Formats: sequence, structure tokens, C-alpha cells
Amino acid sequence: MGSIAENIMQVRERIARAAEKSGRTAEDIVLVAVSKTRAPAEIAEAIAAGARDFGENKAQEFESKYEAVKDPRVNWHFIGHLQRNKVKYLIGKVGLLHSVDSLRLAEEIDRRAGEAGIIMDVLVQVNAASEESKFGVSSADTRELVREVSQRCGNIRIAGLMNIAPAADDPEEVRDVFRSVKMLFDEIARDASGERIDMKWLSMGMTHDYEVAIEEGANIVRVGTGIFGERNYAAGA
Ligand SMILES: *Cc1c(COP(=O)(O)O)cnc(C)c1O
Repeated sequence: MGSIAENIMQVRERIARAAEKSGRTAEDIVLVAVSKTRAPAEIAEAIAAGARDFGENKAQEFESKYEAVKDPRVNWHFIGHLQRNKVKYLIGKVGLLHSVDSLRLAEEIDRRAGEAGIIMDVLVQVNAASEESKFGVSSADTRELVREVSQRCGNIRIAGLMNIAPAADDPEEVRDVFRSVKMLFDEIARDASGERIDMKWLSMGMTHDYEVAIEEGANIVRVGTGIFGERNYAAGA
């Protein structure tokens, strides 16, 4: 792999090609650089190369990096499973929370956002393939959760859906998963009413499968390894 800057350029080119295949352009797709386990210096390198959206998956790690980076150009995304007692660390700092998977979590986000006087943009995480090992709501329960959150949580705006596809050797194997999430996204967008639902973002696709995800309609992709290289969890960050 090349430098972080070279990798970002290459990912952007591949995003542009995939976007064209689905009748869009690179500007329609947001690239979230997944910086979990990465040092603030690596994030700075990515910012210098033009990256503006960064994703973290652990509340405490996010908080310390947020403080270390402190760059107003950065839009932070929280992409990991979130426990209710950690919500307070994110409010007012994270621009988009990708991982709402229960009404109880949404209610805590709503309460904290209300205290802070903000409206929190969230995505509902869909476990489309119903994998036991993954967090998220089944496709069947997603509409109901969207409806409940939009009715009960006045300080939350539901801005779309997020999905993590099953691991597959060949990304073509998960094309159907992406397609089914896009269909669900379109159905909810069509039926949605009221200002608390604004189906704008479909977050799907990671290093291994982001091109297929874009071809199937994703407009946010979350790329870690493809930008920063392999993660080394043992070494810490
Ligand atoms: C780690 C992570 C990613 C990025 O994975 P890569 O394979 O390194 O691109 C994307 N989304 C979520 C939710 C993650 O936890």
C-alpha cells in the first residue's frame, strides 16, 4: 500500500468509478475514513490529504481522539455499538451516529440531545442478513423502530440507515444484502412523514465491498484498512 494520501486518492478514484456505474458522481458519496486504533498523527495526515469525515467505534477512544485532533474541519461519525451510559461522551461532538439499534438507546440520545439543545442526526443500523454476531435491527423490525423513534424522540432526526454486510471472500456475494437494504431505505423514505425523518444517508460498504455497496445505492462508505493499512489491535493506538 502507498502513503495515507496515496491511498485516499486511490479510494476516491474507485468511488468515482462505482458512482458512475449507478448514475451518480464522486461528489454524491461521502467517504468516512475509519480511524479506529489509529493515532492522531495519522488522522492529521489524512486531513492534510483532504479527508474531512472520520469514523470511530468506541466512545472513550473517540473522546480522546476528538480532544487530540480538535480540528473544526472534521466531521465525526460514530459507527460502533453504543451503550446507553456512553451516549453522553458523543453528544455535541459527533455529527452523525450510525448505530441506533433500540428504542431505549434512542431515548437516551434524545434526552442528552435535549439537554444540550441540539437535534441529533442518527442512522438506524440494520442487520439485514440477521447475523447473530452483529448488532442492529432486523429488516422486519426496522420500520417499526423508525416509526417509534420519530414519534417519541423530538431531539432526534432519523437521517437514514446503516448496514454492515457479512464477511465474504467475494464482495459479489453480499450484493443482494446491499440491494435489500436499499429497498428498505426507499420504502421508508417513501412512507416517511414529518420533519423527524429525512432519509438522506445510506451508510454501507467497507474496504472489502464499498464499490458493490455504491453500485447498489450507498452514499456513505466507511473505509479503514483501505486508507490506513491493516489494523494492529495488539499494539494499541
Ligand atoms: C472497522 C469498521 C469499518 C472499516 O473496516 P475496514 O474493513 O477496515 O474498511 C467500517 N464500518 C464499521 C462499523 C467498522 O467497525
